[in-house]
Amino acid sequence: MKSLLASLLLLTISTAFSHEDTLLEDMLLIDKDFSQINIDPVHVGHNEIVLTFDDGPNPGVTEKFLDILRDFGVKGTFFVIGKNAKRYPDLMNRIIAEGHVVGNHSMTHTPLKNLDPILWKSVVRSEIMDAHDVLVPYMQNNRNYYFRAPQATWARRYADFLNEDVIGKQYIGPVLWDIGGEIEIRNGKYVQAADWACWSKKISVDDCLSGYVYESVKKKGGVILMHDLRKQSIELLTKIIPELQDRGFRFTTLNDVRFKQ
Ligand SMILES: [Zn+2]
Repeated sequence: MKSLLASLLLLTISTAFSHEDTLLEDMLLIDKDFSQINIDPVHVGHNEIVLTFDDGPNPGVTEKFLDILRDFGVKGTFFVIGKNAKRYPDLMNRIIAEGHVVGNHSMTHTPLKNLDPILWKSVVRSEIMDAHDVLVPYMQNNRNYYFRAPQATWARRYADFLNEDVIGKQYIGPVLWDIGGEIEIRNGKYVQAADWACWSKKISVDDCLSGYVYESVKKKGGVILMHDLRKQSIELLTKIIPELQDRGFRFTTLNDVRFKQ
């Protein structure tokens, strides 16, 4: 009987260890190539929130975002536009000094669709690799290089082309989002919201907030899309962090997401 118990115990321990090994292997299974399709969903079901802020840096908004994140002790991921980063190095320096992650959101925010059949390679190269050259000094908090495509427009041939490049193939992307993509109202209740669309439709910050919170709870967390662009998003950010903290979500960055493609 004793030996049976002992072997059962041993079996349990070895199972536990092999389980741990599998998890470790999974964590190392990060595909550092450009993906042929958008990475979606990204990180639902972990009770974690990854805040991502697109289209910055923009003076008047980025500083406020940084103040709010600092006050709440939360780190975010900024998908910045290369030409904005070039224009506002002080904002970029503050983003990294305060421990945030910087992602590549192209050089000029040109949607990569309907590109000229002859010239597409030079457009794709300059939008992504020129932005990389501007952004690489600001990627020191990054575990990886991340890319998000403007308007989520992407094609398999872009991935194949960029992965031929020694830097290009170190990228993870295009990274989509889980929460904040569009507005949906059901029975008069906001069950999804997207900041840019809220503001253009003149939806209140509180209604927009309720859409974000509902979707976060439903998906048990995920990557949130917001824009570092309009002043209303400042109030949204001030409210969304405590709302989600109260519901037990932990805030993290793309560095902690296990990417599997
Ligand atoms: Zn954008």
